[in-house]
Amino acid sequence: MPELPEVEALKDFLTDHLVGHEIVRMLPVAISVLKTYDPPLSAVEGHEVVAVHRYGKFLDVETDGGPHLVTHLARAGWLQWKDRLPDGPPRPGKGPLALRVALETGAGFDLTEAGTQKRLAVYVVPDPQQVPGVARLGPDPLADDFDEARFTALLQGERRRLKGALRDQSLIAGVGNAYSDEILHAAKMSPFKLAASLTPEETRRLYEALRTTLTEAVERSRGLAAGRLKAEKKSGLRVHGRTGEPCPVCGDTIREVSFSDSSLQYCPTCQTGGKPLADRRLSRLLK
Ligand SMILES: [Zn+2]
Repeated sequence: MPELPEVEALKDFLTDHLVGHEIVRMLPVAISVLKTYDPPLSAVEGHEVVAVHRYGKFLDVETDGGPHLVTHLARAGWLQWKDRLPDGPPRPGKGPLALRVALETGAGFDLTEAGTQKRLAVYVVPDPQQVPGVARLGPDPLADDFDEARFTALLQGERRRLKGALRDQSLIAGVGNAYSDEILHAAKMSPFKLAASLTPEETRRLYEALRTTLTEAVERSRGLAAGRLKAEKKSGLRVHGRTGEPCPVCGDTIREVSFSDSSLQYCPTCQTGGKPLADRRLSRLLK
């Protein structure tokens, strides 16, 4: 799933490739991805792209005088750029293609979604704040004004464990399952530590891990073509998705805790005092 760093890189990529160009055709293939119906998808056609924005994990293509095209790629969605789109309309029901956006130059991009769980979402709205998921977003952790005092204030009264709190888009925008594992590993904290139990020193450590982890991931991704971002994300992760591999910091074996629809990875030596987290008992606690 693309998270803040990858969506930030996609924003840069699309800014370079879309701004100044006219969207001439919107070709929906999987109608279910469209979450709004008024204005229609076609209302974007004939408008020039003036800017591309990121809100959390949402991408917003702003047009001159037309509506915004907002998308959330979700777990298995992706954006594929094409310098030359194929001739002829795409066929529905074949493969992962959900939506094709064509420019006046013949270039454009496809939004695709792999797998059977369909969560990719597209919104056509006069104002991006009309997208419920955008309106609910908490502060962006890379914003200039997201300082340690702001982070400390956010955690005050937070009753959840760190793993759940960091992933909550209404608390902090843009961090998902992968980067929350990475941030907690960098901060040397258990994913099940209670947010309310952090000392001021620990809060500072977690804040620094959050900013550093995301900033480094953005730097690695910046300037990469859309097609290379997934591989870059994977290669940059130290613990997430690396169950059974050695921790790059201490060499201990990275372990995981599984849930019904996801899993987390951590290093026992770095994060939990050497003790493996019990899978079943603690997975209940996270709910
Ligand atoms: Zn370690």
